[in-house]
Amino acid sequence: MTDYASLGIRPVINAFATVTKYGGSLMPEEVMQAMKEASQSFVDLVKLQEAVGQQIATLTHNEAAYVTSGAAAGVMLSAAACVAIQSDGEQPLFPQASTNKEIIIYRSHRNGYDYGINQAGFTVIEIEPTPTDLKQAINQNTSAFFWFQNAQTNDTEMHLEQVIDIAQDHAIPVIVDAAAQLPPVDNLWRYTQMGAALAIFSGGKDLRGPQSSGLILGQRDILETIQRMSNPHHGVGRIAKVGKEELMGTLAAVERYLKIDHDARSKYCEDTVQMWCQRLNDLQGVSAVRDFPNEALQPLPWCRVTIDPDILGKDCNIIVQQFLDHDPAIAVSPLDAKQFHLNPMTLNKGEEHIVLDACLDLLVR
Ligand SMILES: *Cc1c(COP(=O)(O)O)cnc(C)c1O
Repeated sequence: MTDYASLGIRPVINAFATVTKYGGSLMPEEVMQAMKEASQSFVDLVKLQEAVGQQIATLTHNEAAYVTSGAAAGVMLSAAACVAIQSDGEQPLFPQASTNKEIIIYRSHRNGYDYGINQAGFTVIEIEPTPTDLKQAINQNTSAFFWFQNAQTNDTEMHLEQVIDIAQDHAIPVIVDAAAQLPPVDNLWRYTQMGAALAIFSGGKDLRGPQSSGLILGQRDILETIQRMSNPHHGVGRIAKVGKEELMGTLAAVERYLKIDHDARSKYCEDTVQMWCQRLNDLQGVSAVRDFPNEALQPLPWCRVTIDPDILGKDCNIIVQQFLDHDPAIAVSPLDAKQFHLNPMTLNKGEEHIVLDACLDLLVR
């Protein structure tokens, strides 16, 4: 039988987050069903992309939608399309071939995914988050402004609405990377209704679509440009192929996400964190508190556990590894030598007790 066990690979209970390292998220039945059905017949892929995009756009109150092979691919494709659409004459399939184009981002928003902009062939221009810096950075090569929504913007930094205002005055599209910004579900239309040209989401995080899927929502002309540069066409997006299964799985995931009871889900997370805190605070050398929002700034609680290494005779580097070596293996979210987080958002119901039992095993001398 072909399964994880036959390869000597142990499944992991995920009390970490929707991190790619542990497989992102789990697909619900409706998503698997949609993928399975899609895998059983051939189809015109371009027509399917268009139809799925139209359906997702309608469901999410956007002008248009495009399914990608992940939010990271979405960063690259959005940058490429913003340059291609501003080209004179026929739109290039490989816009990076021509270019001295620039894309502006806040210095504080730099992250491991903005490399997609360089990968598309363009220069990242870092600015300080003020209106003056933004206006000074804009020139005839400026092709877009990239906003990374889970960078923490403090009150002294110019907010997204203001960035959009200034960018619109100069006809520069604003692209919001909101890969992990679900929940809340209304973020699917929040940024685009605010005036962002595009908003990018991961399909393999809380949406629980296929692991290799993502969404770009927003302006129709830019998304049509992405389609022209992407599979089955031989353009810059061909390396980020999206199959019929991912298309149908992502649509099913969006339909499901709009229907599920987000309050009940949030209550499960609150109850779980409360239960963990209560039980863990009984242990010597251990204290547990509710943190909110979580690391990705999703409006869900998680549990921060602080230990006294002298009392337990070990620090959190060791403990985090012990959770992974535990039977069953559990991934928790490391913080520092004295702290880690337990995250309920990626658990299957019932697993909160397995996590607690492992804590009671490991958080002792
Ligand atoms: C997770 C994440 C991505 C990548 O998403 P994938 O769907 O895994 O490609 C991109 N940008 C940000 C800010 C993210 O958090």
